Amino acid sequence: MSGFIVKNIGSVINGKDVIGAGRYRQEVRNPFTSELVGTIDYATAEDLDYAIETAHNVFHKTMKKMPAHERSDILRRTSDLLERDTEVFAQTLTREAGKPIRDSRAEVGRAIQVLRFAADEAKKIGGEVIPMDAAIGGENRMGFIHKYPLGVVGAITPFNFPLNLVLHKLSPAIAAGNTVVLKPAEKTPLTSVMLLRIFEEAGLPKGALNVVMGTGSEIGEPMVIDERIGKITFTGSAKVGLRIKQIADFKKVTLELGSNSPNIIFDDADISVAATSLVKGAFAFAGQVCISVQRIYIQRTVYQEFLDKFVPLVQRLKIGNPLDEDTDVGGLITEESAVRASEWVQEAISQGATALTGGKLNKSVLEPTVLVNVTPEMKVVCQEVFAPIVSVIPFDTEDEVLALANDSDYGLQAGVFTNDINRAFRFAKELETGGVWINEISTYRQDNYPYGGIKMSGIGKEGVKYAIEDMLESKFIGIKLL
Ligand code: NAD
Repeated sequence: MSGFIVKNIGSVINGKDVIGAGRYRQEVRNPFTSELVGTIDYATAEDLDYAIETAHNVFHKTMKKMPAHERSDILRRTSDLLERDTEVFAQTLTREAGKPIRDSRAEVGRAIQVLRFAADEAKKIGGEVIPMDAAIGGENRMGFIHKYPLGVVGAITPFNFPLNLVLHKLSPAIAAGNTVVLKPAEKTPLTSVMLLRIFEEAGLPKGALNVVMGTGSEIGEPMVIDERIGKITFTGSAKVGLRIKQIADFKKVTLELGSNSPNIIFDDADISVAATSLVKGAFAFAGQVCISVQRIYIQRTVYQEFLDKFVPLVQRLKIGNPLDEDTDVGGLITEESAVRASEWVQEAISQGATALTGGKLNKSVLEPTVLVNVTPEMKVVCQEVFAPIVSVIPFDTEDEVLALANDSDYGLQAGVFTNDINRAFRFAKELETGGVWINEISTYRQDNYPYGGIKMSGIGKEGVKYAIEDMLESKFIGIKLL
């Protein structure tokens, strides 16, 4: 295991490891090799209470008084420490999530940038001056808006980006002067404790960030309903997102949920370029990406040409151990996830679909699968597959493909490949998604633009500056000049 040490860890509250003493111990195993990579002691209800109380106290005593330049410096130092520790973070997240090592290194690279964006944004939190004399009777009055942190942010995160998506919550929360209680995904808890330790090394006060281990029902739900927490920021499935919204009561929530992203290729696009990027977008991390390419709509005139280019590229993907440098596709997070995905493929085939390649199942690995002859009602089309499965669907007209692409419960990001500028803007305007890329796959994301879905894909935006806005309260202050 090249120097990798298997450790027992637990929650970290007020800077202290909370382990042992009869707490339930859960193994964390590499999803591809089943090797043990760590054990986690789950928090008790009392531990969670202590974590929230600590975050609440540290907010009032320290964080809300900390000047912006200090918060910014802490974030910048954390980014430097993450850069220093890139390889150990990448190795850990490959082991716990089964993410191919090159993708893990890319995730660390993005996470470093997220911290730097937050360090910059921390110094730009300002207010607004209201033109009071715009209202009749407002003469001789001045008004302005003051922004202030909201207190304790509760962050609940998924398994698929255990570092970068966690930082999309922690770094804006800290930039804004809040404290945090983080509940990471049960499958990928190790990275979050390493992250907490570098935040502390960078000077974040103990207890400003607390990590609490456990399941969604035992730790997640009590966090959502706790009145000391001012906001829940959640990334995960639509089913859990809906449950959180239902029980959150008056609490603010941001929900970053799933999708079945459409990508549309017109016959005036460069088909080779589109095919190459779509392979990446459909099969990166075995399709376990919220904006993974799931539905490819291709103009009928170039349908066969596209398939002739696309399918051999898919067949060339190297399936293997995620720790191998040349692996493109590893396994899914669990064998059950792979079995579920394979059943969806078999069901589609029994309903008339054809697998042009892939479809074979071996433990947690489902071969990259390309389906044709699918219909809109099949699960592989209308639900989120979250697996290495893509459907290729021919179309004839703009109106037809727009209706097909928008016929979804989800709306996160879409990709459109065309060289016609009028068509590009028409689709940018008409597609029912939170983001649209022209001549780029739906899977592309940068961490500084507003990112978030509509419909069942969620509520609110991330992208550091936009997440900060939702982690602040604003107060109107008016003065009557006497
Ligand atoms: P999940 O919804 O199963 O779990 C996410 C987190 O929620 C975990 O920490 C889990 O323990 C917790 N949780 C579960 N039940 C809960 C409850 N009742 N109350 C509170 N917390 C609870 O998701 P997952 O399988 O870890 O991740 C995959 C999903 O995440 C996919 O649907 C994917 O599209 C989505 N996702 C969305 C984005 C985005 O930015 N929109 C990014 C990544 C992943």
